[in-house]
Amino acid sequence: MADLEQFRAETRRWLEEHCPPSMRKPITADEMVWAGTQIAFATEDQRVWFECMRERGWFAPGWPAEYGGGGLDRARARIVDEEMSRLGCRQPQYNLGLWMLGPVLLEYGTEAQKREHLVPITQGSQRWCQGFSEPNAGSDLASLKTSARQQGDELVINGSKIWTSYGDKGDWMYALVRTDFEAVKQEGITFVLIDMRAKGVTVKPIELISGKSSFCEVFFDDVRVPLANVVGGLNKGWSVAKSLLKHERAAMSKFTEGGAPSHDALEVARLYLADAGEAPVWRDRLAALLMDSHAFSLTHQRVAEQAIAREDVSGPSSIMKLVQTEQESAKYELLMQLMGHRGLGWEGDAFSGLEREISHSWTLSKTYTISGGSSEIQLNIIARRVLGLPA
Ligand SMILES: Cc1cc2nc3c(=O)[nH]c(=O)nc-3n(C[C@H](O)[C@H](O)[C@H](O)COP(=O)(O)OP(=O)(O)OC[C@H]3O[C@@H](n4cnc5c(N)ncnc54)[C@H](O)[C@@H]3O)c2cc1C
Repeated sequence: MADLEQFRAETRRWLEEHCPPSMRKPITADEMVWAGTQIAFATEDQRVWFECMRERGWFAPGWPAEYGGGGLDRARARIVDEEMSRLGCRQPQYNLGLWMLGPVLLEYGTEAQKREHLVPITQGSQRWCQGFSEPNAGSDLASLKTSARQQGDELVINGSKIWTSYGDKGDWMYALVRTDFEAVKQEGITFVLIDMRAKGVTVKPIELISGKSSFCEVFFDDVRVPLANVVGGLNKGWSVAKSLLKHERAAMSKFTEGGAPSHDALEVARLYLADAGEAPVWRDRLAALLMDSHAFSLTHQRVAEQAIAREDVSGPSSIMKLVQTEQESAKYELLMQLMGHRGLGWEGDAFSGLEREISHSWTLSKTYTISGGSSEIQLNIIARRVLGLPA
């Protein structure tokens, strides 16, 4: 225990010394440093913070040092998270490889796969995108149809993926493909790693009404992938995918701790309460929101402790994803209502930067309740797997 307290004090000192003050402010979407071959730093402080954390292995404090991680046990890795959060440190690197693929490779990957991919991820030089959803396979993911037929020691992939976030910026994609068309649908799926520069891969950005979009469609036309890129075995991809989605939900439920752009509800509300006539109804709604948010934060800490104690938190991770994303959405809904017509600001100088940010965040908050499995799907999972209710 004394050891842990000493580690906490050292971590706090190190972060205070190395994290530039500008990297301790809430992050906006444009300020996120996405890793990979197209990495770009908007400021020198971003670069300094990125490089310090990379050298220390703290992009992934809990991964083994041989793969570029910090080599810390769960309790110490958690302390790094807590101290970063206490100081308001931004995540130095954003990468699906770090939050989702990495933990899955540690569990299911071959030694060669770990060496080939975990090290570039912990160096920030390889960015990953996720190829799960298809036009008729979103919530019902197991219905996916993109085919992968074995030819010698390769898979030949044909089909397409949709809603691939930043597919145009990813160096690699982890994808689900169908390798057995006869089997029960969950049993014919394989989890495979695809180099986005491979011949036959075409990426088309999807335009959205907002003008800004990270979404892409990805098409596969006789794309050849070595069998060595299969993770967890042929036709065994469903278990790997379930494990990955668990990590995705855990990552999304951590967004409140400064991992994603967000606003302090009280700070924003104070600016508009006077205009709204300081009505008790606003104060009531705001107080309820802040209490829910505090309760969530405490529950989040409890679940994190359970994970450190190696208890199964796969059920709670669905609950946390559901509650966090719904709370985030409720927060922006309340702020938009409180701001009245000022909440309609989208672009142009008639509205302040904050007003434009809030209206964009309001739309974005709704997407979080869909990505990583929609709220309705989380409720189904909670009903069946956590509460044991009949299907
Ligand atoms: C911001 C964002 C980023 C994303 N990034 C990626 C990505 O990088 N890679 C990727 O592969 N996918 C990505 N997605 C896609 C996402 O995984 C799917 O949108 C999601 O799984 C829902 O699938 P769908 O859009 O096909 O909707 P559908 O499955 O068609 O669902 C439509 C509606 O019906 C409801 N519904 C469906 N089935 C049930 C049921 N059994 N019970 C109750 N309600 C049900 C859903 O909750 C939803 O409200 C992203 C989505 C968003 C919004």
